[in-house]
Amino acid sequence: MAYARSGRAATHQGWLASTEIRRLLMATYEYLCSRCGPFDVKLEIGTAPKGYGCPVCAAIARRVYSSPGLSLTSKTVAALHAQEEQAREAPAVVSEVPPRTRVPRRPHPALSRLPRP
Ligand SMILES: [Zn+2]
Repeated sequence: MAYARSGRAATHQGWLASTEIRRLLMATYEYLCSRCGPFDVKLEIGTAPKGYGCPVCAAIARRVYSSPGLSLTSKTVAALHAQEEQAREAPAVVSEVPPRTRVPRRPHPALSRLPRP
């Protein structure tokens, strides 16, 4: 990385940039204490240890893995997207032409006001 983490050579801008980069590289890790339950810890990406001290009882809690909350799409919209995507590859096949439905038509009301021959 181009920015120095510490030392006299680090400029103010470099320090700001490295702080910003570090903030962007933070991730939330989940741990599970056997006595107190789950808790989250924010650490730099890639620095999460397998065990972390519980903030309540200070016992070593083990790291747990769960699915990331990346989806902002509602389940309905996601299902429609999946259906549309599936229809591209394998569209629903019909065995016969759908029955013809006749819509009864009423004459336009202005036609009754026209002169008859
Ligand atoms: Zn605990």
